Amino acid sequence: MRLTSSILKITLQPTPTEGGDTLLYFDQTASTQPLEAVLDCYVNLSRTCYANPSALHRQGFLAEQTIRQAARDLAQGLGCLPEELIFTSGATESINLALQGALQAHPNIGQHLVTWAAEHKATLETFNHLESLGYQTHYLPTNAQGLPDEAAIEAVLHHPVGLISFSLVNNETGAILPLERLMALKQRYAPQALVHIDAVQGYTKLPFKPKRLGVDLASFSGHKIGAPKGIGLLYCRKGLTLKPLFYGGGQQRGIRSGTENPILARCMALAAELQLKKASQRNQKVTQLKAELLKRLADSGLNWVLNSPEQASPYVVNLSFPGIRPETLVHALAGEDIYVATHAACSGAASRSHVLDSMLISEAVKTSAIRLSLDETHESQDLERLVDALKRHVPVLQQPTDHTRSQRA
Ligand code: PLP
Repeated sequence: MRLTSSILKITLQPTPTEGGDTLLYFDQTASTQPLEAVLDCYVNLSRTCYANPSALHRQGFLAEQTIRQAARDLAQGLGCLPEELIFTSGATESINLALQGALQAHPNIGQHLVTWAAEHKATLETFNHLESLGYQTHYLPTNAQGLPDEAAIEAVLHHPVGLISFSLVNNETGAILPLERLMALKQRYAPQALVHIDAVQGYTKLPFKPKRLGVDLASFSGHKIGAPKGIGLLYCRKGLTLKPLFYGGGQQRGIRSGTENPILARCMALAAELQLKKASQRNQKVTQLKAELLKRLADSGLNWVLNSPEQASPYVVNLSFPGIRPETLVHALAGEDIYVATHAACSGAASRSHVLDSMLISEAVKTSAIRLSLDETHESQDLERLVDALKRHVPVLQQPTDHTRSQRA
């Protein structure tokens, strides 16, 4: 089949719009543009490192060494052992392997499972599946600060809990979970319970060392940190056994069969290394950008509400413009080559956000939210262009409503 010219025209680079502006991408929480150095690494390694890592010949050995080195580099950044890392296709697989694999390998550990109602669907849907297998699932409600309600945790942990799963950073609001406090509570009330952390949105942004925190399992995704899609990572504490999700050639100690991809493993390790190197500088810049964005919005005269908690990750800003339909605003901005999200891309066609639904905010606020992702490639003039575009579109799209900032329920 011949490729049509429109397919051939698709390009990864920002393209100038008719007015001469380049595209503005504010959706890094959904997926990042791969780093240039990582793309170079992908292309160069693809030319040389194509043998099967399990092959007995020299080329296979080199491919295997590439994977081992990637695991060593990633382990160093995470403060764990290389043999505690398993490469997967992405965080959804890591989370499934962590939760299902650990519970199947330890059937007597406890039938109660605990998570937060605002977790990513990869966790919630796996919990749903586990519930169908007979486990008792508990979803902690969201408190007024936009965090899992800690009073509810103590009540839940009195059950025989087998596993607890929380994220490091919520992917819709940027809420940073108080993991050290949660770990202390679990240690006090349910020391036997296994802990899984979905570290996807905090990885390379917040300091996170699973071993030091005492967590048993942690999931990571390459395409959220500037590596290509199709690579993820699972940390599994040494000594903890997992039942595989699928069977085959017995690669990765039999836990994750399937030919390993040395190129993607290397890309993930390189992306993590580059991001970690500039983490503090990047965090500082993005924190300033967030403050500037909120100031520009405050000065804009628009009717808006901040849904992200006060102490949230600066990379994720969840806002509502009560009275608008968020899809309409997203399309209007896309018409100016400005890309923002309504809510998690992974929620697919779901028109409501389960994260906002779990929060103590009004219906008008829940149904008018957009998510802006910030990163260090943004500049002050990008925020100016974004807020100018909001000032043009929001008043036109906004239906009259009584809900203002002060009416947050
Ligand atoms: N967990 C969180 C918090 C996420 O934001 C995402 C992706 O949006 C995932 C898990 C799933 O990651 P992946 O796309 O690598 O499967």
